[in-house]
Amino acid sequence: MPSRNARHGNLFTWKGKINLLNEKYAEDGRPSAEECSCPACRNYSRSYIRHLFKAREALGMRLAVLHNLYFYNELMQKIRDALDEGRYGQFYREYRDKLAERRED
Ligand SMILES: [Zn+2]
Repeated sequence: MPSRNARHGNLFTWKGKINLLNEKYAEDGRPSAEECSCPACRNYSRSYIRHLFKAREALGMRLAVLHNLYFYNELMQKIRDALDEGRYGQFYREYRDKLAERRED
């Protein structure tokens, strides 16, 4: 699921999903997710990855997949931590809607 979303330009962030194919990211120099420390976010901007998608350059999909898999690894770790600490219900309520929403910035 994370890689399929990435191949269509949908990237997950802690503030909701973004779609890099959206025109508004054409000149956006920020990383896909500012809070993410994956190699794609540390080294490449939204506009660059978007450009790769538009040029049908396979690296665009690879970077997007890398980000989403990294995000899901972090998500699973946060879920395990919440379960261990007995606060999964609170975690679920906090992130359920947020992660499904489309991010506006
Ligand atoms: Zn990332």
